[in-house]
Amino acid sequence: MISNDQQKFQAIISHSKEYGFVFQSSEIYDGLSAVYDYGPWGSELKKNLREAWWNEMTRMHDNIVGIDAAIFMHPTTWKASGHVDNFSDPMIDNKDSKKRYRVDHLIEGFADELVKAGKTADAEQLLATMDSLLAANDFAGVKQLIDAKNMKCAVSGTCNWTDVRQFNLMFSTQIGSVAEEANEIYLRPETAQGIFVNFLNVQKSARMKIPFGIAQIGKAFRNEIVARQFIFRMREFEQMEMQFFIRPGTQQEWYTYWKAERMKWHTSMGIPAENYRFHDHVKLAHYADAAVDIEYAFPIGWKEVEGIHSRTDFDLKSHQQYSGKKLQYFDTEINQNYVPYVIETSIGLDRMFLLTLCHAYHEEKWTKEDGTDDSRVVLKIPAKIAPIKLAILPLLKKEGLPEIAREIMNQCRNEFYCFYEEKDTIGKRYRRMDALGTPFCITIDHQTKDDQTVTIRYRDTMKQERIPIEGLVDFIKSKF
Ligand code: ATP
Repeated sequence: MISNDQQKFQAIISHSKEYGFVFQSSEIYDGLSAVYDYGPWGSELKKNLREAWWNEMTRMHDNIVGIDAAIFMHPTTWKASGHVDNFSDPMIDNKDSKKRYRVDHLIEGFADELVKAGKTADAEQLLATMDSLLAANDFAGVKQLIDAKNMKCAVSGTCNWTDVRQFNLMFSTQIGSVAEEANEIYLRPETAQGIFVNFLNVQKSARMKIPFGIAQIGKAFRNEIVARQFIFRMREFEQMEMQFFIRPGTQQEWYTYWKAERMKWHTSMGIPAENYRFHDHVKLAHYADAAVDIEYAFPIGWKEVEGIHSRTDFDLKSHQQYSGKKLQYFDTEINQNYVPYVIETSIGLDRMFLLTLCHAYHEEKWTKEDGTDDSRVVLKIPAKIAPIKLAILPLLKKEGLPEIAREIMNQCRNEFYCFYEEKDTIGKRYRRMDALGTPFCITIDHQTKDDQTVTIRYRDTMKQERIPIEGLVDFIKSKF
C-alpha cells in the first residue's frame, strides 16, 4: 500500500497539468491559492464521477430525489445552521512570519515528523492529547502543548506564537445594488442547508414518504486557512450530499445502513476495500449524535473523502425556530406528527477526483523482447468513468484510412466519448492515450479495407487483438 509518498503526489500534480486534467486558477497571474480549474479531460472525468454518484443516489434508490438549490441563501439560514457562531477552526499565528496555521494541522505536521524519526508512540500520544484538548475546547491547553513541544513555524523557524483563536471560514459578500441597502450574505459553506430549507417543498411536491432522501450536487466555499495539498483542500469545491429523513429513534439503524451503502459504492468504483477505512469522530459537531469519515490511503496518508453524520433533528428544528414555519411530517403509519431525524452522506467531488487519479496513476517500466527498456505513465481509470472511452487511430493519414476511421467515429460518438487522432506514430499515440486513461484504442490499417476488422489495444494489459467493426459499439459498451 502507498502511503506518505510525496514524490508520487508531486508526479500526479504535474501529470494533471501536462495532460489537461487540473490547472491552477488564473495561472497567468501567478494563480489564486487553493483554487483550481479543470481542463478538458479533468472536466470530463469530474462529470463522470458526478454522474456516477447522482445515478447511484437517485436511480438506484426509489426513495431519493434530487434538487439543485442556489448558492446564495437567506442570511438567517447560516444563523440557524450554527455556521455563523460555530463554523470556525482554532488557529494560531506565528508572530514573526505572520503565518496562520490551523492548530490541528500544525500539531499533525509535528506528529508526522515524529513518525519519520521513528517515534511513532510519541506521535500517537501527541495526537490523542490534541484530540482530547480540542474535544474539550481547551484552547489554552492546546497552546501549552504547542509551546511544550517547541513546535516551530515552517517559515520563520521560531516558536513565537499568538494565543489560539477561532476563525470563521465562511466567505461573505453584499447583495443589493445600492451599498446602503445591501445586505451581507454568505457563499454557502455546504450544500446541505439548501436541502433542509426545501424539506417540505420536496416532500409535498414529490409526494415522498419517510424514510426518504434528498440529494444535491453543487459548489461550496470555505476560507480554508491552510490550503495546501492540491485539490485535496480547496477554497471553492464541489460537494455531493444526501440528507436522508427518518423517524426519530431509527437513526442508529439508518446510520449503519448508510455506512455500508456508501462503502459499497466506493468499492464498486473499482477501488479495493483495503484502500478504505472508517474513522469515527472523536469531537462531534454541534449537530451530530454520531459521525464517521470514510478515509482513503492517499499518497499523502489516510485522509477523509466522505463524511456520514447522524444529524438528529438539529437542522430542521433550528430552521423551524428561526423561520417560524413548521417543518414537520405527519407519519400516517403511526399517526404522529414529528420533526424528522436526518442521516447525511457528504462527499467532496474534488476529493473523489483526486482519489481516482491517485489510484489510477502508475509508472511502469519493462524490458522488451529485443532487450531494450521501455516505460510508460498510465492512468488505469475504470472504463465506466474514464474521460475518453475509445481512441480511433488510422495507421496512416492517407489511402482511405482516415475516411474509414471517421465513419467509425460517427457510429460511436453518440454512445460514448471518442477521440480521433491521426498525428504521430502509433506508439506515441498509444502512450498519450495511456496517459489520459483511455481504456481502448482501435487502429484502422490496410487489412481493415479487406476484411472490415480493426486492431483493438487494451490500456491495462497493452494486449492487442483484431475485432470486426460490426458490433464495435456493443463490444466497447460491454466492457463498462
Ligand atoms: P476536513 O476535516 O478535511 O476539513 P470536513 O470534515 O470539514 O473536512 P465536511 O464538512 O464533512 O468536511 O464536508 C464533507 C466533504 O466535503 C469532505 O469529506 C470532503 O470530501 C469535502 N470537503 C470539505 N472541505 C473541503 C475542501 N476545503 N476542499 C475540498 N473538499 C472538501
